[in-house]
Amino acid sequence: MELRRIMVVGAGQMGSGIAQVAAQAGFSVTLMDIEQRFVEKGLSSIEKFLTKSVEKGKIALEEKDAVMSRITGTLDLGDASSAELVIEAVSEKVDLKLSLFRDLDKLTAPDVILATNTSSISITEIASATQKPDKVIGMHFMNPVPIMKLVEVIRGLQTSDNTHQVVFKLAQDMGKTPVTVQDFPGFVANRILLPMINEAIYCLMEGVSSAEDIDTVMRLGMNHPMGPLALADLIGLDTCLAIMEVLHEGLGDSKYRPCPLLKKMVKAGYLGRKSGRGFYQYQ
Ligand code: NAD
Repeated sequence: MELRRIMVVGAGQMGSGIAQVAAQAGFSVTLMDIEQRFVEKGLSSIEKFLTKSVEKGKIALEEKDAVMSRITGTLDLGDASSAELVIEAVSEKVDLKLSLFRDLDKLTAPDVILATNTSSISITEIASATQKPDKVIGMHFMNPVPIMKLVEVIRGLQTSDNTHQVVFKLAQDMGKTPVTVQDFPGFVANRILLPMINEAIYCLMEGVSSAEDIDTVMRLGMNHPMGPLALADLIGLDTCLAIMEVLHEGLGDSKYRPCPLLKKMVKAGYLGRKSGRGFYQYQ
């Protein structure tokens, strides 16, 4: 079956990016969140990105209008009943995702694939909340979605070959490069990236160097495009902490313990760019 209608659940930084690349690839997209202001924020961030692309001459104005016309905001999860595939991108909380997948299972047709953009939560566990674990899969986009090429396609224990093939091709149709990964804590990207970020936070906490200098070491010394602390602010410190907790619990090794400074910052509401303050301050 040729997919045409996709629902994206969660209109935050990832959900809005996923909705954008899906609409740019020609799909009709329904973008759902729990409050109108979140939906509007998601739609306006897409609009801003596309306006900049028009200004830079990367796309025509007509294309921007066409992409925007393919995205509809909603507060009603029931709209999933007309979707041919759902991509979930809500906050990184296990209970939230499990209850959402329980609902999506009831609302969608039996053959509809339910993909999750989780950074670290077990696909097999999320699938267990449904009656169709063969149709559940990880589709892990990178941030910022319209720019980053990679998508980790994560197979849960019961994900079928057909579900894997459909989602692998979908990622390609969205202009991305998919890589198949098995369901282990943190998958590949975050199993490697987050311990590095966590270690950078330990360096800061122990006074090894300042935030700016730690980032400079990794940018100029390792040729990383962005320092680990600036990257943590971009990802969101709450998301970073949630991933470290999954790695720590799932792999059972103390080397994955989340840095106390990271925990303290999340408790203070310093979540990085999205809250205006993390390791750096933002307007
Ligand atoms: P975010 O905080 O920007 O957005 C989450 C959105 O989910 C919010 O708008 C929130 O209102 C919405 N939401 C919460 N409960 C909901 C519900 N029941 N129904 C619908 N919407 C609901 O978070 P984000 O950074 O976009 O992360 C979303 C997911 O993507 C997480 O699973 C995260 O781990 C994953 N992810 C994040 C990054 C990153 O760099 N931030 C990268 C890859 C994957």
